[in-house]
Amino acid sequence: MKPLYIYDDELLKYRFSDSHPFNQMRLKLTTDLLKDSGYLTTEHIVKPRTATIKELSLVHSKAYIQAVQDAGHNLLSTEELIKYGLETEDTPSFKDMHEKSALLVGATLTAVDLVMTGKTNQAVNLSGGLHHGFSGKASGFCIYNDAAVACEYIVQNYNKTVLYVDTDAHHGDGVQWTFYGRNDVATLSIHETGRYLFPGTGSVTERGTEEGFGYAVNLPIDAFTEDDSFLEVFKKSLEGAIQKFKPDIILSQNGVDAHFRDPMTHLSLTSKSFEEIPRFVKKMADQYTNGKWIAIGGGGYNIWQVVPRMWSQIWLAMNEEEAPRGPLPTCFIERYKDECKVVFPLNWEDTLEDYMEIPRRKEITEKNHNTLNRILMYFEQ
Ligand SMILES: [Zn+2]
Repeated sequence: MKPLYIYDDELLKYRFSDSHPFNQMRLKLTTDLLKDSGYLTTEHIVKPRTATIKELSLVHSKAYIQAVQDAGHNLLSTEELIKYGLETEDTPSFKDMHEKSALLVGATLTAVDLVMTGKTNQAVNLSGGLHHGFSGKASGFCIYNDAAVACEYIVQNYNKTVLYVDTDAHHGDGVQWTFYGRNDVATLSIHETGRYLFPGTGSVTERGTEEGFGYAVNLPIDAFTEDDSFLEVFKKSLEGAIQKFKPDIILSQNGVDAHFRDPMTHLSLTSKSFEEIPRFVKKMADQYTNGKWIAIGGGGYNIWQVVPRMWSQIWLAMNEEEAPRGPLPTCFIERYKDECKVVFPLNWEDTLEDYMEIPRRKEITEKNHNTLNRILMYFEQ
């Protein structure tokens, strides 16, 4: 069964403003890079459907959905906009925001249906991964939380359990709080410590409540964490979580804002981590969930130098392709080099001429290692 890739140009229209850092142009760049290098053809691509109000209501309150619809047609007072988190610099309202946001959720549900009905084992929707959306409030560039809706949809429509694994630099708070008291959706988030970064939550001690106790797992890592330390905590915590929770399916959120060239965070990962992350998730899925794996996107704010190459690795991992080395396809570079206002990357792998060595490396590694050990101890309880 070949993996499937959910895409349509319509998904690019989830856009707060021309100058907003969340820019879905990165979806088109990734898709074109994969096509130009021969890894993606039209037979792999499935067009997304739109999520229905009923589906959005699996996670979001009726009042909030109505507010998003109204805000998209300029019908909401400033006071109401503030109440629903739609009047902030991060997440302002925009025209037809309900329709654009519901399509993005529908794209993740399209991937879910293809996998859960056995049409394929693995599918990817890079337009999704909006993990900060809350039941009744927008937050951190996220209107509707496609990841949370997808988890609840899998539980209710297919009666299966999910392990949600989130490697975005920011804590996957919206998904965590949605399932905080539940044992049918386990959440594992590995993120930069909330001490200096939005949203500030995601400490080791957030573990869930009542029957969900132990099913929320947080691994906050230190600012300036590098590849080796990240990969150690990521691989060991994911394997521990999957052995403990025995989920039917993995849903992975693949924010790439932990890259050292991302302008919004303070982590120091390179292409090495982003090559290995999806390949390890695939290995875990093949070993523990009969190959069932859905991947979604997430953060990533250096859309030229980082996102297309890093996200391509998810699709390559699904197709069991090794990480390519050397030059990107000439036609891809030619197509975009004038539009790109920064130094255009020429190779698949990072060239590290501007990579700063971290003086506190040993201390950071030890700290992360200790956090990991605490998590692994929880798994044994
Ligand atoms: Zn992020």
